[in-house]
Amino acid sequence: MNKTPAIEAVGYGISGDIGGLPKTTYYTPDGRVVKTHANFHVNSAGQTRDANLDTGWLLSPPVNPKLFCRWCDRWHDTEGEVDACHRQRNFLVEKEMVKAKQEETNEMLALKNEVSELKAMLSKFMEVQNGKVFQSEVNESTPVSTEQGVGAAKEGL
Ligand SMILES: [Zn+2]
Repeated sequence: MNKTPAIEAVGYGISGDIGGLPKTTYYTPDGRVVKTHANFHVNSAGQTRDANLDTGWLLSPPVNPKLFCRWCDRWHDTEGEVDACHRQRNFLVEKEMVKAKQEETNEMLALKNEVSELKAMLSKFMEVQNGKVFQSEVNESTPVSTEQGVGAAKEGL
């Protein structure tokens, strides 16, 4: 039972199931065997590619197996690189969080500015309206619809 990997590699090898699509035997860079269907797609250059190979899987057992990295879901040559990947990832995650927080703060500030601008506009608008024909109408209705209205009403009392 010593099939040449070369044959398997072309995709004619083990095809566990009869009928149905033949499965291809892949090897992960860390040496695990994966038997599954090829995942062909046409790339932007018009070439047919097996997406499984794009993930890093190989068609023959790796000569120098690599280490699977659970941080990036890919493979590295050494433990040092895995550690570096982990650190880099933590760094990026932290950076991302700081950035997100900063953005949140900026958005909040922008929103506050907008609200105060709107308030200013609104009170200007109200002033203009009060100075116009609508004056009586506005004053006669109970001015309690907004906080400002309440404040103004209290001041008025
Ligand atoms: Zn990694």
